[in-house]
Amino acid sequence: MANQPTILLVYTGGTIGMIKDYKTNALKAFDFSQIVDKIPELQQLNCKIETVSFEEPIDSSNMNTKYYIKIAEIIEENYQKFDGFVILTGSDTMSYTSSAISFLFENLQKPVIFTGSQLPIGDLRTDAKENLITSIEIASARKDGLPIITEVCLYFEYKLYRANRTTKINAEQFEAFASMNYPPLAESGVHLQFNEHLLKHSKDLQKQLIVRKKLDYNIVILKLFPGITINVVESIAAIPNLKGIILETYGAGNAPTEKKFIKILASAIKRGIRIVNVTQCAGGSVILGHYETSMQLKEIGIVDGKDITTESAIAKMMYLLGENLNTKAFKQYFEQPLRGEID
Ligand code: ASP
Repeated sequence: MANQPTILLVYTGGTIGMIKDYKTNALKAFDFSQIVDKIPELQQLNCKIETVSFEEPIDSSNMNTKYYIKIAEIIEENYQKFDGFVILTGSDTMSYTSSAISFLFENLQKPVIFTGSQLPIGDLRTDAKENLITSIEIASARKDGLPIITEVCLYFEYKLYRANRTTKINAEQFEAFASMNYPPLAESGVHLQFNEHLLKHSKDLQKQLIVRKKLDYNIVILKLFPGITINVVESIAAIPNLKGIILETYGAGNAPTEKKFIKILASAIKRGIRIVNVTQCAGGSVILGHYETSMQLKEIGIVDGKDITTESAIAKMMYLLGENLNTKAFKQYFEQPLRGEID
């Protein structure tokens, strides 16, 4: 058919592309170029699908920044040729990976949909088929000749989310992801319903796609808990070559007021380490200075993570550190939405 959208399906690894070896009962990756044989329904979709697979598919626990760049380069190299991209990865680190990819692409004007599954594609009760088929449908959806989605998303179990708003919340239910601070962009039921007022579109269609590839991963997540020792905080802040700390605080961004604790953080910030305050809560936002217990953090110049997820904060920090900004510019950029990741 003429003018059918073209979709590139990228398989990086994960359960979705596996089949059970019935002799050994072990899961193994199958040749992804034969995906249409496994899911003949794909032929009924109104689009042309091509596939590309990592030579050695990985479990997403082995995901790292080198693979982020590899995924970004596959999209970049094929950006003109295809109308949309569906990226298959394991669900375990999908929120981290898809958040990172969202920061790597500036002025994106085509859909990039991440998906995967909890059960392998050959399994009788698999969730892989629905996730894959609907992701492809979303990636090919158009209105007035333009793609409906022009951002990096994650589709799982009937819901399309902005990728950098998601967190994996369940290791066994099909509804494995949540986006606590931003509603779904689309829901799949009898109809595929897009919540168009929630979608993000590049304002200037003439703007060139920019792909950022410098990521600095010399960072750490420091999750507070009642009883955490000064020794632990001090040791983390003293890690050689450390560039950034995602400080997971309580509630609306609160932390112990103990002098020694604040002093260690203040001195780390003075040495150029960027520290971002992110809440441990699944939903809601940091409100710096709302309680006395976050006042001092504000005074020492901690960066306000607002309602960002930890996954997205890690990605945003890697990206902004890679841009080599001074302390003030880093704070300014971090505290504003760059890809719809915060309000
Ligand atoms: N362990 C797998 C992975 O993340 C689970 C999955 O595919 O969902 O790669």
